Amino acid sequence: MLGQPQVGSARTVTPPVFMYHSISPSTEPDPHRLRVAPARLDRHLRLLSRLGLRGVSLGELLRAQEQGRARGLVGLTFDDGYTDFLDHAVPLLERHGMTGTLYVVAGRLGGVNEWDDGPRLPIMDADQVRAVATAGHEVGSHTMTHPRLAGAEPAALAAEVGESRRVLEDVLQAEVPGFCYPYGSFDAGAADAVRAAGYDHACVTGDYDPGDRFTLPRSYVSPVDTTVHVIARMVRHRFRVRRPLPGGGSRSSG
Ligand SMILES: [Zn+2]
Repeated sequence: MLGQPQVGSARTVTPPVFMYHSISPSTEPDPHRLRVAPARLDRHLRLLSRLGLRGVSLGELLRAQEQGRARGLVGLTFDDGYTDFLDHAVPLLERHGMTGTLYVVAGRLGGVNEWDDGPRLPIMDADQVRAVATAGHEVGSHTMTHPRLAGAEPAALAAEVGESRRVLEDVLQAEVPGFCYPYGSFDAGAADAVRAAGYDHACVTGDYDPGDRFTLPRSYVSPVDTTVHVIARMVRHRFRVRRPLPGGGSRSSG
């Protein structure tokens, strides 16, 4: 059930999943706090290594969890499909022997993040999305146009959720198992649409209700997060998943 703990005698605790967006050394204004500098991401990944942790894509994390080998893993996700993921995040992930999931706005391939009112950032084209997958990272869907899905009509849900999966599967010639709700905006209808479209799992934004496989929580990493903040976010995750909160929800960043 949406927003409820998984049933079973011993509820599986999902390891922390971090949420990044743009990874860039740019010093342009960043009003929505979407940009983490490559040097900072490098420090975060180095910290994980020092703690004996390895960052992996959300798909890999869930597979490992099912097989009882998720110990020592954390999830790394990058929203929207900015071209800077290839330029800055991929080399760092490779250097640290880690992988991540890139959630792409499939209706904006080769375009920009026109859904928000901040600086325009380029979105990958089809070739670049394929290059991400070839480099060993997971590609997931982040809808066609980045709308809020809570309260959306069934036809709009089908188009945003289902069509984006078809577009990306056509680009990759491979299955796309993961979905990410823009702005973390979801409700029972949106989660049902994601399930119906054939996805395997979906993640929300900074929402620590331990939901089911289609409302997996993530921890937002801010542009100024130090390694101490990253540790604090992991501790907070551990604390929160042990104390389930009622209900689903819709949060406003991401
Ligand atoms: Zn987004």
